[in-house]
Amino acid sequence: MSTETAGLLYAYNPATGHALGTVPATPIEDIPLVVERARAAQSAWAEVPLRERLRRLRGWYQLLARDADTWADLIRDEVGKPRGEAMGGDVVASLDAIRWTLRRTPRVLADRRIGTGWQRWLLLPSGRLRWRPWGIIGMIGTWNYPLLLNAPPIAQALATGNGVVWKPSELSPMCGERLQQSLDAAGFPQGLVAAVQGGADVGRALTEAAIDKGMFTGGVANGRRVLAGLAARGVPALAELSGFDPAIVLPDAPFDGTVRCLTWGAFFGCGQTCVAVKRVLVVGDPAPWAEALAGAADALRVGDPGSEPVDIGPLISSQARTRFDQTIRAAVDAGGRLLAGGFALDRPGWFYRPTVIAADGPEPEAALEGVFGPVVVVRGLTDPDAAIAAANSSSFALSASVWGRDRTVARRVARRIDAGMVAINDAVAPTAHAAVPFGGTKASGFGRTKGAWGLFEFVQTQTLYERGPGGFRPWLFPYSSLLERLMTIYRRLFHRTQ
Ligand code: NAD
Repeated sequence: MSTETAGLLYAYNPATGHALGTVPATPIEDIPLVVERARAAQSAWAEVPLRERLRRLRGWYQLLARDADTWADLIRDEVGKPRGEAMGGDVVASLDAIRWTLRRTPRVLADRRIGTGWQRWLLLPSGRLRWRPWGIIGMIGTWNYPLLLNAPPIAQALATGNGVVWKPSELSPMCGERLQQSLDAAGFPQGLVAAVQGGADVGRALTEAAIDKGMFTGGVANGRRVLAGLAARGVPALAELSGFDPAIVLPDAPFDGTVRCLTWGAFFGCGQTCVAVKRVLVVGDPAPWAEALAGAADALRVGDPGSEPVDIGPLISSQARTRFDQTIRAAVDAGGRLLAGGFALDRPGWFYRPTVIAADGPEPEAALEGVFGPVVVVRGLTDPDAAIAAANSSSFALSASVWGRDRTVARRVARRIDAGMVAINDAVAPTAHAAVPFGGTKASGFGRTKGAWGLFEFVQTQTLYERGPGGFRPWLFPYSSLLERLMTIYRRLFHRTQ
């Protein structure tokens, strides 16, 4: 976490409240200049052959891999994650995603010839599809995965020939500074990729600068503000916003194993993971599930990942914990029964006990919608249709899971859930897959990161049509009856009616 005073962002360890260091905030008036410099570098970068761009990116990837341990320490200290989580969920997942980009971009973005098929009888030339960068990508990031949510999209944007001006979250400025230092050390052209540091005002200035495409990761309210500003200027964007993920538990789900997985899926990253399980929708009697989840939550070790063996670290800031606690109270006021947690720890750091809430109806869920912290709500539904309707009743649709032994039934349920990503008998972990697209629908945003679909976000298509000079072109002036006769024959051949 951090605060800003006199042009400096102060970073703190959320597990201890101790200061970690300072990072200079970028003066607002400098931001158009940073974007201008990136543009000057980008026009030459776009002309650098892909193979050479990837060679430079490989150098950066190797620096990240070399510094993996330092990264895991910094993420643990600035964000408050257990080190294994920081290493697996952030560092290794980022390296994998970048490795995928280094290996697969040439194939995904190879020029493609698009033949004319039956339309060759219209004497059309074939097309050749090329991919061109947008120009300058303005990225606004968040803190919960300070490497994963920034480094892989930066890699994909640079690989595709764009320049990048990016704003790390003000809650993880030291991770942002280190990431930019690694990019500087990798020797990209001066100014091509630059971080601007600060809070919402710096983010706003970046979206108002001359960027060609925006990418926002964060909460819905701020995301929509940013999207509205960009839309007013005709600048496109992709938006990775909040989730409120359902887990549908079918009657044949194996009890112990599913409880273990759901506990991890709910409380991984202290529940501050956009794809965390937040709503457990049990088909049948929810009571045994709610009690088992509460028992498992009570057994979790909460504490400072820097000094004790723990499962769960702190929330990111005092404000985040206050907001979280207020949301838990609202869910209880709406009829939710607290079975585990529901209180902050009385010690330094922003700790909160993992919380399990049992609900008899949808009201507690509505009070929790979009919550970002260690809580899961459990409720029973009479049949799979009712569970699917409950899952789809949220305005959020980032990811979801279905739990059950019969994979055919589970698959049938999964296909009917509104979400960008649905897992069967799994949660959170599959999103580390380097090749699959990541992103949500409905209020959770649009656009995709990672894999081929992530690359496509950073390019526009250009079609080249080519033919030799001259040749038979019956559609040119002056018109004669020939054109109509030929078109009639063509229509009869290819658009025959029954
Ligand atoms: P946030 O919306 O408070 O801030 C996100 C970023 O936007 C920060 O860098 C912030 O400085 C900037 N910002 C805020 N207001 C702005 C404005 N008006 N103009 C420009 N920039 C502005 O979110 P947060 O607290 O950093 O992150 C938590 C949220 O992010 C949660 O809701 C979580 O679900 C979501 N999230 C989504 C994903 C995803 O991939 N879908 C991933 C992680 C987190």
